[in-house]
Amino acid sequence: MNLRFECPYCETALEVPPLLAGKPVRCPFCQGQVAAPFTPDGGSLLKARPPLPNDLLLTRKQLLRGILGLFLLGCLLFLVGLLIGYYS
Ligand SMILES: [Zn+2]
Repeated sequence: MNLRFECPYCETALEVPPLLAGKPVRCPFCQGQVAAPFTPDGGSLLKARPPLPNDLLLTRKQLLRGILGLFLLGCLLFLVGLLIGYYS
């Protein structure tokens, strides 16, 4: 029996063969990468697990934000240093 689940990106009902359970599949509608669920169709649609690439993307975003924060802090310290040098 095929696995049926909803694409978390475009919410299209997808159907994949059972041998793809737990494996990453590409949504044919939005090309988003989705991890197919392990549970076979029980009559209702299952929400697919959040895909891994998105998690990695989020981590990278957080990393970038951290770097940006450090950079801004560095700029601030530099400016403060300049002001102190200017006024002394
Ligand atoms: Zn989709």
